[in-house]
Amino acid sequence: MTNTVPVNALDRHIAPIASQLDKAAAQVISSGYFVLGPNVKAFEKEFAAWCGAAECVSVANGTEALELGLRSLGVTSGKAVAVVGNAAMYGTTAVLACGAEPVFVDVDPITCTMDPKALEAVLAKRRIDVVIVTHLYGKLADMAALTLLAEKHGFALFEDCAQAHGAKDAQGRKAGTFGAAASFSFYPTKNLGALGDGGAVVTNDAQVADTLRKLRQYGWTAKYRNELAGGRNSRLDEIQAAFLRVMLPLLDGWNERRRSIANRYSTEIRNARIATPPPSGDDFVAHLYVVHTEDRSGLQSHLASHGVNSEIHYPVPDYRQPLFSDTFASTQLPVTDRSCTSVLTLPCFPELTDAEVTQVIEACNAW
Ligand SMILES: *Cc1c(COP(=O)(O)O)cnc(C)c1O
Repeated sequence: MTNTVPVNALDRHIAPIASQLDKAAAQVISSGYFVLGPNVKAFEKEFAAWCGAAECVSVANGTEALELGLRSLGVTSGKAVAVVGNAAMYGTTAVLACGAEPVFVDVDPITCTMDPKALEAVLAKRRIDVVIVTHLYGKLADMAALTLLAEKHGFALFEDCAQAHGAKDAQGRKAGTFGAAASFSFYPTKNLGALGDGGAVVTNDAQVADTLRKLRQYGWTAKYRNELAGGRNSRLDEIQAAFLRVMLPLLDGWNERRRSIANRYSTEIRNARIATPPPSGDDFVAHLYVVHTEDRSGLQSHLASHGVNSEIHYPVPDYRQPLFSDTFASTQLPVTDRSCTSVLTLPCFPELTDAEVTQVIEACNAW
């Protein structure tokens, strides 16, 4: 029996850069700067440039990047924010934290990102203040259609790019630069991941960035002057910023490797009972490689018996989470409901070997 292929392996990811990370950590430790110092400043500049955005404001994690990002666009109680229901509650949690109302919108069955037609149907019935677009699994959502709707209906677009660092459209425009602001997570398993929590908001709007810099630091407008509501302590550590600066130059190569693994799966998995996403170009950075099948538990146990681990992203639609009891009992999003029962994530990370990729493909084809 060959070794088990894991869904992810951060030890393999970190090993080749461990000595660079050690050096970066040692420099921070001896510098005496640990919070909002030179590495944070430099990383924000480098990441904004890498995204093609004017500003980057780093924060403590991706969820607070979402929440503070929404607050910086004026989301408070009484506002309505459209979200997808298949993205593990992150956007919804942020909307609730702002005291606003989440309005759930169905997704496209192939891309699993927000369906512009479904959004249009919601907009025909009610006012929406902000729309959170999640580039799920690393796939750029249909930004051309969503941008047109934003112009027509006057809502702000907020992009959740936690799984999509570097995904870009045919013109080379990157995730995070289409809307009013965009959140990123640097949780360790993300395409760009620190050795702990981290997050950021990018924007082209200097006013939004200014508000964010206050919100992440207690709502201060000056030292010990608390002026903004909704402020808190949400900062990226110097040591994490230093680690991220080591990794950022490697990100394009990692994304390239993820995409080539994904495209091998999409062309070589041939099984009528497994629906694979179509092969992709630069609009997909393959954060997760997700297939659909009617018999998920059957496929999952077959793969396990062939030494292939798999996971489910994500099993329960937001509007069916127990936290809501019957608040959204009447919400029915047919594509979201169906896809939560059919999605299965195959191993896809840059350090997978070609032999492991072949093992995954053969296991799928032998089902
Ligand atoms: C991981 C993730 C987040 C949250 O990021 P954290 O840093 O874990 O708070 C938000 N949105 C999406 C789509 C994610 O995958």
